[in-house]
Amino acid sequence: ASNPPLSRAELVVDAEAIRGNVALLAAQARRSGAATMAVVKADGYGHGASTAARAALAGGATWLGVRSQAEALALRADGIIADILCWLHEADEDFTEAVRHGVTISVAAQATLQAVVRAARQLGTTADIHLKIDTGLSRNGATRDDWPALVAAAAEAESAGQVSVDAVWSHLACADEPGHPSIDAQAERFDAAYRVACDAGLHPMRHLANSAATLTRPDLHFDLVRPGIACYGLNPVPGHTEVRLRPAMTLRSRVALVKRVPAGEGVSYGLTWTAPRDTTLALVPVGYADGMPRLLSGRMSVWLAGARRPIAGRICMDQFVVDCGDDPVRPGDPVVLFGAGDHGEPTATEWADAIGTIDYEIVTGLYRPRARRHV
Ligand code: PLP
Repeated sequence: ASNPPLSRAELVVDAEAIRGNVALLAAQARRSGAATMAVVKADGYGHGASTAARAALAGGATWLGVRSQAEALALRADGIIADILCWLHEADEDFTEAVRHGVTISVAAQATLQAVVRAARQLGTTADIHLKIDTGLSRNGATRDDWPALVAAAAEAESAGQVSVDAVWSHLACADEPGHPSIDAQAERFDAAYRVACDAGLHPMRHLANSAATLTRPDLHFDLVRPGIACYGLNPVPGHTEVRLRPAMTLRSRVALVKRVPAGEGVSYGLTWTAPRDTTLALVPVGYADGMPRLLSGRMSVWLAGARRPIAGRICMDQFVVDCGDDPVRPGDPVVLFGAGDHGEPTATEWADAIGTIDYEIVTGLYRPRARRHV
């Protein structure tokens, strides 16, 4: 699938790569008796939520994970009927539509439980929930102090037929650093929280593992794993090469203009780059307004006319310049900014490494329309 051009940047998504990656991850999970929830939040990590969801389900995922009720409902509106869990809610969220559409709601607070119960009562149905415990990330999730009361309230709501507590779950802080002591510490707290739920008469599934833990900690797979980044072919654990993932996103464009400049000519704003010899420059019509980090200026090359060629000078809002030396380059020539890496092009991971961030930010950074605009 390829989206309509964002200016002249084209984001090409290899759905078959997502399917294949999820098949590898699901096979790992299956070996521990676990099912797979593919995380498709943030528009499928920038790959398109429905495209990613369909590919993941074809690869053997049976669950989808998203941030919000709105993301879950968008998947339902697109005809996706698989189990979906949504986990980050607004303070006064009304869950009626999620419950109506059979979306599973993560509950980490009494107020959320009450809102879900209200929705279930109104619809005369039972809402599916997963109770979330904060085991040490100190982000979303009930504190260990609040957990027993939340579990007791959920058990009461389950007895009343208002909710079904289908799982207890949590999220790891340092799974991408195998051996980090916090992983086992979180696992112990998770186990204690699970026992509280069982003692309250609940019979929930358990899930804890993100991509990194799916790849490196089969003992933490429990009933369900929740890989995100690995579904898109990006490896969160440096050096872990056992599972051969394939990056699913390619960012490409075409040369808009070619010109010859003499040695000593400066290029782009600030004239931070000067031609070391007579050279051919190619103009690529992609810039930071397209989501290309300006920090890559002077630190990255692109794949153009059969070679990696350096970006010359600063990346601008809508364009940047490539130094092509004496090689023949023509307007219209394809340019790969990043891709799977197997044809010599840079990868999203190389982009991230070049500017001190993570590839998650690179691929989701090309997904722009998230902040609501108020005028
Ligand atoms: N589970 C939760 C709660 C998440 O927030 C995320 C992503 O941030 C994931 C799973 C997937 O993590 P990863 O992309 O590292 O596999």
